[in-house]
Amino acid sequence: MKTVSKKIILLGNVSVGKSSLIRQFVFQKFSETYLTTVGVQINKKNVVVADTDISMIIWDIAGEITQDRVQPSYYIGAHAIIYVVDVTRPTTFSRIKNDLELLKKQLPNAVVKVIGNKIDLSSIESAMEVCANHSVKLDFFTSAKHGTNVDTMFDELAVDLIKERNIFQF
Ligand code: GDP
Repeated sequence: MKTVSKKIILLGNVSVGKSSLIRQFVFQKFSETYLTTVGVQINKKNVVVADTDISMIIWDIAGEITQDRVQPSYYIGAHAIIYVVDVTRPTTFSRIKNDLELLKKQLPNAVVKVIGNKIDLSSIESAMEVCANHSVKLDFFTSAKHGTNVDTMFDELAVDLIKERNIFQF
């Protein structure tokens, strides 16, 4: 079995559910209590794909994590970016293209997943309408609360990470 280590960063507006998605994936837990992440938190979970044991090192930082407010140390060396929007708050979609275009320059080989979270509070139809209005294609609709698509999304990311191909779409 091969072992590899991959750095994954989460980006998106404050309160879209970045920390909750990580908590659900790593600890199978969810909390309604809003606790702002303080500083940088790093969690690790191993996923096995074929003959490879992937150590997913998942970085999360406080507050509004859009490209121009992120310190280079946060994204330097990242192999994957999970960009999270809140399907109940269309304003959280507004910077996706801008943020990802800038990151593409810094991380040209990173795998990118764009996630519409809090789908438990919306219908797929209205979430898709928001996407269409912003010309955004999401990779997954998730609910960190119910766990919907959370493991599926991280597992697909793990598979993409060992394919080492560039799947930037923006
Ligand atoms: P972050 O600032 O992006 O890290 O967001 P948090 O993970 O701290 O979540 C912000 C708030 O949204 C918290 O009150 C969470 O309980 C709530 N939340 C996060 N994900 C979901 C979800 O999928 N469904 C619902 N209903 N609430 C969520």
